Amino acid sequence: MTTMKVARVQSFIDPLVCEDVPIPVPGPFEALVRVEYSGVCHTDLHAARGDWPVKPPLPFVPGHEGVGTVISTGDQVTRLAVGDTVGNAWLWSACGECEYCQTGWETLCSEQVNGGYSVDGSFGTHMLVDSRYAPIIPADVDLKAVGPVLCAGVTVYKGLKMTDTQPGDWVLISGIGGLGHIAVQYAVAMGRRVVAIDVDDAKLDLAKRHGAEVTVNAFTVADVATEITQQTNGGVHGALVTAVNALAFPQAVASLRRGGTVALVGLPPEQFPLDIFTTVLFGLTVRGSIVGTRKDMTEALDFFARGLIQPTYTVRKLSEINDIFAELVAGDITGRVVLDLTDE
Ligand code: NAD
Ligand code: ZN
Ligand code: ZN
Repeated sequence: MTTMKVARVQSFIDPLVCEDVPIPVPGPFEALVRVEYSGVCHTDLHAARGDWPVKPPLPFVPGHEGVGTVISTGDQVTRLAVGDTVGNAWLWSACGECEYCQTGWETLCSEQVNGGYSVDGSFGTHMLVDSRYAPIIPADVDLKAVGPVLCAGVTVYKGLKMTDTQPGDWVLISGIGGLGHIAVQYAVAMGRRVVAIDVDDAKLDLAKRHGAEVTVNAFTVADVATEITQQTNGGVHGALVTAVNALAFPQAVASLRRGGTVALVGLPPEQFPLDIFTTVLFGLTVRGSIVGTRKDMTEALDFFARGLIQPTYTVRKLSEINDIFAELVAGDITGRVVLDLTDE
């Protein structure tokens, strides 16, 4: 067999096209993987629409939560072998040599390659991974459920670290979608007390099931920040914003207690106003957080392998990808969609 089935973005306007294309040959440090499952991240939708300033080269195959089996390797590969279960990730590779790579900040490397963006991803039967960066999937885990850990999981796990909160502190998770419902679980596992915000009661119910103590519907509650300040006796110590709506960002900042930190993770292509006086006088920190390093990934996968993280997912077919994107836009997906590529 020399061709593989993929869903490809041909333009930033038209639907994705399911087609057969040649199977790539792995380079010296690369491995070819038969993909079995792939999560669908809201980033894939931003990518397919060309939402962000740096756009992916057309055509491209999205997907950075793929899981499968190594079927061949390049001649320099030592870390992986045929038969291993591995994944791809947004941080597909980095240079390994710059000041960021040398200091534990490979996620900021300007030479990084991004899975399903600058290199083809996991919306297909086969994908290439860089053997030095591909996450190795722990033994005996549910392969459908582990995909969402590879982006949503590591991103919120690292983002929670970046809130600088401590066990017992309140942390606000804004947006209980693919990322947010997993963030609630990591936060609880890390001993934080969780406030969840969404605009949909079904998603807030999911947050409660995963241990959120306070839930607020931003669509129906008039003053979200005042409500949270009252319910947490002064505001949250940290906040993680995963919502794909610019309105959620100033709400999270306004919900912080003095000295609090908000980690911005959601990427709506918009701006938000930051009140200078409050930020200065209350000593607030507002910072961005982008996925996680290979070490963060190993830690995030370890929480999952120990049964502490249970993504909610629905299994769908590759041919449904355009419907799935429409449902993501409408906010109609609870948890994550996982594509089943085993029968393709
Ligand atoms: P998703 O569509 O599954 O979830 C978004 C959630 O936001 C939904 O539950 C929706 O109801 C909720 N929401 C919408 N408006 C809201 C509002 N005003 N207040 C609160 N909640 C609101 O998306 P996802 O896959 O979880 O991704 C979320 C965002 O994170 C995307 O922009 C994605 O590109 C970004 N992302 C960033 C990183 C990173 O490393 N920084 C990694 C992965 C994804
Ligand atoms: Zn993602
Ligand atoms: Zn680098």
